[in-house]
Amino acid sequence: MTTWDYSRPAKPNEPERSTDGRNRIFYCKLCLNPSYSCQSLTSARYHLSHSHQIKVTDTETKAKRLRENRLQNIWAVAEEKNLARAREQEVSASVYVWPHVKLKEAVIQS
Ligand SMILES: [Zn+2]
Repeated sequence: MTTWDYSRPAKPNEPERSTDGRNRIFYCKLCLNPSYSCQSLTSARYHLSHSHQIKVTDTETKAKRLRENRLQNIWAVAEEKNLARAREQEVSASVYVWPHVKLKEAVIQS
């Protein structure tokens, strides 16, 4: 379930997007009278957890994005180190490939 699974479509007299058109408005499916709406997912999640005791774990969370960025950085650093080492010591291609493979395994297992 994502936060949007708890939203209902806008009624004919309700706007679907914020006035600047950038944000989709969240209408809480569980609040009908009075209805609840907000323009940010953060507010929507807060509302769901405080009014309905629903904890939403969206698939694309900030933490996951940060983790992916970090992994990409690890890759970049490892790549750089390997290239530098390969150039400096003129090591064989097989030695260069090995830590590379190890890192790949580590990423998959994590
Ligand atoms: Zn609600």
